[in-house]
Amino acid sequence: MDNVLEKTGMKKSFGKSLLYTLPMFLITFMFMTGGKPNFSDPASALAVLTVFLLVNVLYFFMHYTGKTDRYRAVLFIIFALSLSYTLIHNMLEVRKSMSFSQADILECKIPFCHLVIPMMILPAVFTKSIIFPGSIIGGFANISSMVVLWLIATIVLGRGFCSWGCFYGGWDDGFSRIRKKPVIKKISELWRWMPFAVLIMVALTSALALMPTYCSWICPFKAVTEFEQVTSVESATKAGIFLSLFGGLVIALPVMTRKRTQCSFLCPMGAVNTLANKITPFTVKIDKNSCNECFKCVEVCPLYALTPADIKAGKVSLFCSKCGKCVDACPKKAINYGIRGIPAGTMKNFSRNLFLFVSFLFMAIFSAGSIISTFHGLLKLIF
Ligand code: SF4
Ligand code: SF4
Repeated sequence: MDNVLEKTGMKKSFGKSLLYTLPMFLITFMFMTGGKPNFSDPASALAVLTVFLLVNVLYFFMHYTGKTDRYRAVLFIIFALSLSYTLIHNMLEVRKSMSFSQADILECKIPFCHLVIPMMILPAVFTKSIIFPGSIIGGFANISSMVVLWLIATIVLGRGFCSWGCFYGGWDDGFSRIRKKPVIKKISELWRWMPFAVLIMVALTSALALMPTYCSWICPFKAVTEFEQVTSVESATKAGIFLSLFGGLVIALPVMTRKRTQCSFLCPMGAVNTLANKITPFTVKIDKNSCNECFKCVEVCPLYALTPADIKAGKVSLFCSKCGKCVDACPKKAINYGIRGIPAGTMKNFSRNLFLFVSFLFMAIFSAGSIISTFHGLLKLIF
């Protein structure tokens, strides 16, 4: 721990870190318990207490050690795993299967996910129809609340959503950390434009076919959530595509490259969030006066968001997801969280603290429900 403390310029004393954690402590207590802890079901109370402590301990250590990514990643990965667990568990309980039938589609009984949003815009504007088979006002798939939450998170975090809010990003983030050194060292950064091509393709095909084509044909996360019943050559082909993309882009390539390849090369929501990076108040900034161009940050960036040319130009690219890995790795502390309009190298502590508070709170709000439900389910299995 001492080594960690020595290496970072953003660490705080124990007391100061506790003080910074206090607002998070109070807000998470309120939304996890409603202000009134309920001890009538011990398993449920223990699940809430565990998640409440987990969230606040991680946030405390972000301040105490000055490191961001390693504590962010713990919650982010648990979030992705627990969401899949909760979804699969619900599917099995309600339908006794992970697959859904045509009747489920007609009855709008499909869980809604934020990746559908870019596909819904054109059909909603031009045909006034919501092409996803979910309910707008409630039930299994509450589209309206999801769209509002996503919109707020996107405007505030931009592509930071991909490292702090996304339900699935923790999958390839987790696999990208398995090996210490990459087997594949170089993939052209031109591939990072691929999500824009996917976005244009799914927006147009969804508008023409009046169906969410990304969900129906491409989404790798169908492999760990829900998918159409295999009853024909078409549905078997879809299942094959989901499994291949999950195996290739979410498991194999992240392990071999140490990069988040599904998020970097496929996800259309990543493209939307990249554009949103143009308007968000928070950025990652390079202080050219401190940087010695060692390119350590380029090496560790999991999203191909930094190139040597970006470093020489003193500007992080729009692809940045604000994960903090480069901030943690920089030996000169030359790369840091910043606020638009404030020059790099000034108000570093204030900018980092404000960004951490906002982004971590988003992640805590998005993830708490599914993590509590997963712990609760596991506790009931054990006791
Ligand atoms: S790790 Fe730091 S010093 Fe090295 S190139 Fe990146 S910003 Fe500059
Ligand atoms: S530039 Fe830094 S903060 Fe942005 S995605 Fe890369 S490692 Fe994460």
